[in-house]
Amino acid sequence: MALETLLELEREAVMGTYARQPVEFVRGEGTRLWDSDGNEYLDFLSGISVTQLGHCHPRVVAAVREQAGRLDHVGNLFYTEPSMRLAQRLAGSSLGGKVFFCNSGAEAIECAIKLARRRKPGGRFVTIEGAFHGRTMGALSATPQETKQAPFAPLVPGFSVAPRGGPVEVGDDVAAVIIEPVQGEGGIHPVDPELLHAAREACDAHDALLILDEIQCGMGRTGTLWAWQQLGVEPDVMTVAKGLGGGLPIGACVAAPAHADVLQPGDHGSTFAGGPVVCAAAAAVLDTIDDEAFLAGVRESGERLAAGLRGLGLDVRGLGLMLAFRAPDAPDLVRRALLEQRLVLNATGPDTVRLLPPLNVSAGEVDEAVRRIGALVG
Ligand SMILES: *Cc1c(COP(=O)(O)O)cnc(C)c1O
Repeated sequence: MALETLLELEREAVMGTYARQPVEFVRGEGTRLWDSDGNEYLDFLSGISVTQLGHCHPRVVAAVREQAGRLDHVGNLFYTEPSMRLAQRLAGSSLGGKVFFCNSGAEAIECAIKLARRRKPGGRFVTIEGAFHGRTMGALSATPQETKQAPFAPLVPGFSVAPRGGPVEVGDDVAAVIIEPVQGEGGIHPVDPELLHAAREACDAHDALLILDEIQCGMGRTGTLWAWQQLGVEPDVMTVAKGLGGGLPIGACVAAPAHADVLQPGDHGSTFAGGPVVCAAAAAVLDTIDDEAFLAGVRESGERLAAGLRGLGLDVRGLGLMLAFRAPDAPDLVRRALLEQRLVLNATGPDTVRLLPPLNVSAGEVDEAVRRIGALVG
């Protein structure tokens, strides 16, 4: 379809919530994307850390095809094997304990919030300056950004914000502290390890939960399966989504054994959640990523990309393949990268360009992306 027609259809029929780039993608394979004119792109965004194994990974495609041809959906009034197996796999590779499946990141946060409130009735929540936890009313209340929150006031009561540099003030009335190990939408800011350790101690001292939001930084993105594994702090509850389904919508809230039975029959639910097709896809993704050699590759590629960008004189931050660099006009640079260099990137703000390539990106593709960025900033 001609791009002009798509723009017209959007104006006519789609709510204007997104600022889209003027490109229509029609095919993907690995780190490559193709637009409707046949141009080839390097994807260093992965749909915001979603297509963790690149586009249309054969193992994911095979799992989806097989399951879609066998059983599509029955809902949570019955048993299906893929969701039980995935729950065991996901809990086993993270906190032990138990899993609640949902369909998005915001829903994973909603579950974590409800679990913490159920455990400590009336309890308050503390979030970190610059955090992003989602767009539903509960998750939005945990997202302390004036422009996102203000039009939708009043928000859910009981949320307060700690500065990015701390301190995190916790009292007995706090149900949970919610932290992203690496802030994603906020501009790729790894949490201050001291703040994280202090939050862990404060939560223990006041019987509050430490909830770590691994929705963007989890699933191998930072070079370990979960970012908290390299920060030396284990959470009570963890949220996962984005990269879990390898492109299909699935989220999960994982609770450590001590909190695994807080939510009781009737407390929470979701019609689509834990469906066989998305769970089959997620199992294929998790099996591929939860592998020491694979994760070592992520760390190696992350170092190569960071070094390449630093070699261009750029100010780089982040962990593993969750990286960003400063640029005076980031949205313009991202637009030129897309249209002139056929490189997919994203700006998290006026001065930050974010890179989230597929975790199995090759050394050659990393070097090629650095070369294309060099052509823009040189
Ligand atoms: C994207 C994101 C969310 C929200 O996920 P949705 O699937 O868009 O609802 C929550 N937390 C973090 C850290 C995210 O990056």
